[in-house]
Amino acid sequence: MTAQEILSLLVSFPVLGGESNASIANWIEQYLTTHKVDFQNVHDHKANKRSIHCRIGPPVDGGVILSGHMDVVPVQGQPWSTDPFTLTEKSDSKLYARGSCDMKGFIACCLAVLPEMVKADLKRPIYFAFSYDEEIGCLAAPALAANINSYYSEQPKYAIIGEPSMMQPITGQKGIVIYKTTVNGSAGHSSRIKTEVSAIFESARLILWLEEKMNRLIEAGHIDQRFDPPHTTLHVGKFDKSGIAPNVVSDSATFHWDVRVIPKDDCRAILAEFNAYCAELIKEKQKLFSEFDIVTTEAHSNVPPLDTPDKLEVVEFIKGLVDNQELGAVSYAAEAGQFSEAGFQSVICGPGDIAQAHRANEFVSIEQLELGVKMIRRLVEKQS
Ligand SMILES: [Zn+2]
Repeated sequence: MTAQEILSLLVSFPVLGGESNASIANWIEQYLTTHKVDFQNVHDHKANKRSIHCRIGPPVDGGVILSGHMDVVPVQGQPWSTDPFTLTEKSDSKLYARGSCDMKGFIACCLAVLPEMVKADLKRPIYFAFSYDEEIGCLAAPALAANINSYYSEQPKYAIIGEPSMMQPITGQKGIVIYKTTVNGSAGHSSRIKTEVSAIFESARLILWLEEKMNRLIEAGHIDQRFDPPHTTLHVGKFDKSGIAPNVVSDSATFHWDVRVIPKDDCRAILAEFNAYCAELIKEKQKLFSEFDIVTTEAHSNVPPLDTPDKLEVVEFIKGLVDNQELGAVSYAAEAGQFSEAGFQSVICGPGDIAQAHRANEFVSIEQLELGVKMIRRLVEKQS
């Protein structure tokens, strides 16, 4: 089967992040079995979800992991001009479907080259590592990477995460974490605001602190020109319905914010500083209202950044597999930082453009898909 034929099957399984991925996992496992490749699962039994990993080639050190995620983002409310779960080739030589680009295209490339991998006389192995729930916070990759480390007696060396990068090697990725902050104030008549504590006023103070913190990082020179924008961002994207009337002091408010860090900044350090500011505010406001409180929880696990130094061997290695030799960095979350933390030298490189991901009429060009196949064929040669 060609990569395009496999892709048309993969996109027909509408597995969203958070949902059971049994349908697409079954098909991939059947395909692996047909080619006599043993595979392992890392389960979330409760929710009927599983990652898949397998090795093609001998159990020796120096292997390369090809990593992809099987889930996609929803299509609701998006103006699709074709069925999002049917791969549609148009006269512009582009293949349209949800996940065509992010990132079933890469998985299709891996599976299309599998028969050649199996036949090749590999001296060092190639692994597939396919996860679920990437789109809702890269939830499955840490357990998948850990299982690869513990299951195989040999040590894989590199990981290529096939997120859409237009086949450009990406060695930097921002880290991301999402927080939810709830402020507990006192209810009362608005005329008494000087003796009550408004949850909305205090939330506003905290929200502006977050924006100022971002600006302070920039002013202090925390800049990494590889990224666009070249600095850590802090952003409040959602303020829950709060308060009941203009003349009633609001007793509760909740807001949701994200932090996207360049590798030199640390999400946890930013949170610690925010919490220290909250602690001061709590102390001061409790003089007016003893139950005043601010509670911040992690709403989305911390996805670490990727910062692969140019001197690491994987950089030369990936340059040997692709035509584009210019290294890049991305601001979206991906599993690359997690594979790197698990001990594999990691880079992102895959077919398609991230600009097409998550939107209506997502596509991957046939040319990009062919370049993906070409990279994996070169990998087979290199490992032979
Ligand atoms: Zn993705």
